[in-house]
Amino acid sequence: MQLLSNAIQVAHGLLAQALPKAKTIVDATTGNGNDTLFLLSNSPADSVVYAFDIQALAINNAKSKIASTCSAAEQQRVKFIVDSHDKIADYIDSHIDVAIFNLGYLPGGDHHITTQSDSTLKAIEIVLEKLSCNGYLAIVLYPGHEEGQQEYQLVKELAENLPRKLYTVGWYRMINHNLNAPALCWIEKVGG
Ligand code: SAM
Repeated sequence: MQLLSNAIQVAHGLLAQALPKAKTIVDATTGNGNDTLFLLSNSPADSVVYAFDIQALAINNAKSKIASTCSAAEQQRVKFIVDSHDKIADYIDSHIDVAIFNLGYLPGGDHHITTQSDSTLKAIEIVLEKLSCNGYLAIVLYPGHEEGQQEYQLVKELAENLPRKLYTVGWYRMINHNLNAPALCWIEKVGG
C-alpha cells in the first residue's frame, strides 16, 4: 500500500487521531461505504456515524458492505440517510467531532451524478459551524473532471480564507504527480 500517494489513506490516517474520542461522526458522501466502514471500525462503542448520500443505490451498497463486515452492535451505530449533505443540520443537533467528504461520483455508478460545488460548499460551511473544538474535517477532492475542478478551486478558496484563530487548515497534493491527482484538504477546529 502506497500511503503517501493515496489521498484517502492520508485522510484516514489523520482522522484516526480524533476518532477514539469522537461521539458524532459524519460520512457526507457515503458511496460504496468504504469510508463509513473505516469510521465505524475506528470509533467508540457509544458513537454514532451519520452516513449521507443522495443516491439510494449508494446507500444500499454501503448497507450491504457494513452488514457483511461489521458486528450487530456496530451496525446499530450507523444512521444511513438518503439526502443531500447540505441538509446535515436537519438530522444532527449536536456538535460534529469527525467528518469526511470524499467528493465526486459513485465508482461503478452514473458518473453524471456527482457532487456539486454549491451544495458541497454549503455543507462544508454547516459542518465547520458544528465542528467541536479539536474536531477534524477531511475533504478529498478530484480535480480531474469538470465539476471536480470547479469544486477544487472553490473549496481551496474557502479553506485558505478560514480564520486561523478558529481553524488550522492543511492542503495535501502530490507535487510530482499529474496536476489532476486527488488532493486532500484537512481542517481542525482550534478555537471558538
Ligand atoms: N465515500 C465513498 C466510498 O467510500 O465508497 C465514495 C464517495 S463517491 C466518490 C461520492 C458520492 O457522493 C457518490 O456516491 C454520490 O452519490 C454522492 N453525492 C453526490 N452529491 C451528494 C450530495 N449532495 N449529498 C450527499 N452525497 C452526494
